[in-house]
Amino acid sequence: MSAYPTLLSPIDLGPLRLPNRVMMGSMHTGLEETGDWDRVAAFYAARARGGAGLMVTGGMAPNREGGVYPGAAGLFSEEDIANHARVTGAVHEAGGRIAMQILHAGRYAYSKHCVAPSAIRSPISAFTPNALDEVGIEKQIADIATAAARSVEAGYDGVEVMGSEGYFLNQFLAPRTNRREDRWGGSLENRMRLPVEVVRRVRAALGPEKLLIYRISLIDLVPEGQDWSEIVALADAVTEAGADVLNTGIGWHEARVPTIVTSVPRAAFAHLTAKLRAEVAVPVIASNRINTPEVAETILAEGQADMISMARPFLADPDFVAKATRGDAARIAPCIACNQACLDHTFSGKLSSCLVNPRACHETELVLEPVTTPRRIAVVGAGPAGLSAALAATERGHAVTLFDRAERIGGQLHYAAAIPGKEEFRGLIDWFEAEVAASAINLRLGHAPSAEELAGFDAVVVATGVRPRDPGIPGQEGDNVISYADLLSGRVQAGPRVAVVGAGGIGFDVAEYLVTGHSTTIDPPAWRAEWGVADPSVARGGLAPEGPRPDPAIRKVTLLQRKAEKLGKRLGKTTGWVHRAGLQMRAVEMLGGVSYERIDAQGLHVTTSEGSRLIEADTIVLCAGQESERTLAEALRNSGVEAHLIGGADVAAELDAKRAIDQGTRLAATL
Ligand code: FAD
Ligand code: NAP
Ligand code: SF4
Repeated sequence: MSAYPTLLSPIDLGPLRLPNRVMMGSMHTGLEETGDWDRVAAFYAARARGGAGLMVTGGMAPNREGGVYPGAAGLFSEEDIANHARVTGAVHEAGGRIAMQILHAGRYAYSKHCVAPSAIRSPISAFTPNALDEVGIEKQIADIATAAARSVEAGYDGVEVMGSEGYFLNQFLAPRTNRREDRWGGSLENRMRLPVEVVRRVRAALGPEKLLIYRISLIDLVPEGQDWSEIVALADAVTEAGADVLNTGIGWHEARVPTIVTSVPRAAFAHLTAKLRAEVAVPVIASNRINTPEVAETILAEGQADMISMARPFLADPDFVAKATRGDAARIAPCIACNQACLDHTFSGKLSSCLVNPRACHETELVLEPVTTPRRIAVVGAGPAGLSAALAATERGHAVTLFDRAERIGGQLHYAAAIPGKEEFRGLIDWFEAEVAASAINLRLGHAPSAEELAGFDAVVVATGVRPRDPGIPGQEGDNVISYADLLSGRVQAGPRVAVVGAGGIGFDVAEYLVTGHSTTIDPPAWRAEWGVADPSVARGGLAPEGPRPDPAIRKVTLLQRKAEKLGKRLGKTTGWVHRAGLQMRAVEMLGGVSYERIDAQGLHVTTSEGSRLIEADTIVLCAGQESERTLAEALRNSGVEAHLIGGADVAAELDAKRAIDQGTRLAATL
């Protein structure tokens, strides 16, 4: 019997019978905007072949003013419809089903032409929206209905109406953004009028044979958001108007509570989907931080939802469902919720991909062709760079020997996994272990090969990573000075007062490690208290009136850098604010613009623009960046063996696991 009997059981959703209860949720990848529709079709067809019961496209703009940014994709012309038909054709041929999301961004549209119920600028937008008049409102509704009609022409199986995340429909619903005094604002009935009318007209445009999903915001996580009675009233009204199913939306984009980053507990919001399920007659879909079949099955088996939406997990592994079905969950490449290659790319105007799977959205370009003449390849270093090179080269048919001087694979990923809130990195190491075990790789742990030993291979890949940079601070040889590796490996304990030298990604992580006694990522009620998340039945918007209630820091930490800029400025675009807020909540002192003078038994002496200062500290942790570990590469060069350098061994600056894995996979594609 399947380990996931509920997840893999069929479900009737409106007019559709689906083979399982897994939906690939909507993601804006940027693929449509490339204009390469073969690529778009290949992306979705791969996920259909991988067994997703239903997929939802990225948000399609119903008109120019509603596009997330100028030039955002939509169905505006016959050519657009024909392009989308190529996608639906490829998906249907692969045996899948696909619905098109209609996304009107309202005041979140990145344009001075953006429109909204009221002229109130969002704190995350540069543009004050134009308040719509009666004619303007009718135009928006008509355009959304037209988009739905065009989706039918393009062959979609239905649509998802985006009503959450603080977008246009949500803006009409919440008092925060709707200050109208006409029939579109004020009372609940008036604020609901636009979303309900949209659903009614979309249903009319679709006819009875197509699926209509409404994405409903179950917790706005902003002041003056909706309360629970309003959410339930809306759920009833949109189902009455023609929605077949309600998908879960969590938090507005401007919310100051994280909703999908890796430190959010798995299934952190499924209890709200369960709460809605008890109130409505239609199926409900749970979403947010669900990334394994076990978590998904538990939600369904406990009756919290009828179906599960997972979006980013389908970037990490298009074959998620197929692997769960064949009982091979350990082989599912895990989404670690890092946002590094997906949302951070989207918000930087770059094409999405995935840290774990660089082939995501590059299906037609990064192809691992089988080789006709297998070669004997040595890969030295089993961090993410070496692992991905070894796995991809083996997949192509090469005979690979993978060496690491350590007794385990994973390299620096072990340090990442030690950080409270980054537990998902453990799953990434486990997955690499499962992949290596299932492959034909000859794994040689606890062994650092010499250049002579490697001379007999047809190709050598050096993936020896990095070593910590020596900041050269006088006194750093004292017993009170340690490296991040000493600390995170558990070899050395820090005292109660700590100074952290260097505020890059590692310095921030080390500070988090030092101040956190208990990781709330594995304790959802504690996490909700930490971020001030309340039940929307008792607090409008789901924000606790008393605000965030974090556990106190277990150490006094000062985080320092030489640059005079704000600390954490270069952290991830969609995640940096969470790291900064987390440390601020635990009173970490952040000091920029310092010069390090010396270290002695009292602590760290620095100079700032205000003069000399002693940071009293029992322990000083060095996180001053890294340099390439090239000892082996140089020995190989001296003995005339040609080597390919990847990951940190190649370039240490701005190294992360995303680049290491991408570079390893791309090199293997060419060997
Ligand atoms: P490494 O991971 O350093 O692996 C090199 C491997 O080579 C090691 O296993 C080592 O034992 C082996 N080796 C070295 N010399 C030899 C030799 N002579 N013979 C045999 N084996 C040898 N990145 C992200 O993208 N996101 C994050 O959130 C993130 N968080 C991090 C948090 C912390 C605390 C740390 C320390 C790092 C974090 N990183 C993160 C960075 C990421 O882990 C590294 O960029 C990545 O591991 C580099 O990969 P690599 O394979 O080049 O090198
Ligand atoms: P980093 O981001 O380059 O930061 C190095 C820090 O050390 C900076 O604060 C730098 O600031 C300081 N520094 C540099 N040279 C110094 C010197 N000679 N003396 C004293 N201080 C010095 O590197 P990292 O923190 O080591 O991280 C390594 C990589 O891992 C990063 O590129 C990062 O992308 C990745 N990582 C990512 C995440 C993530 O969440 N995405 C988390 C952890 C790590 P000043 O020069 O201003 O002092
Ligand atoms: Fe998940 Fe990170 Fe991949 Fe995005 S980049 S899909 S968050 S693993």
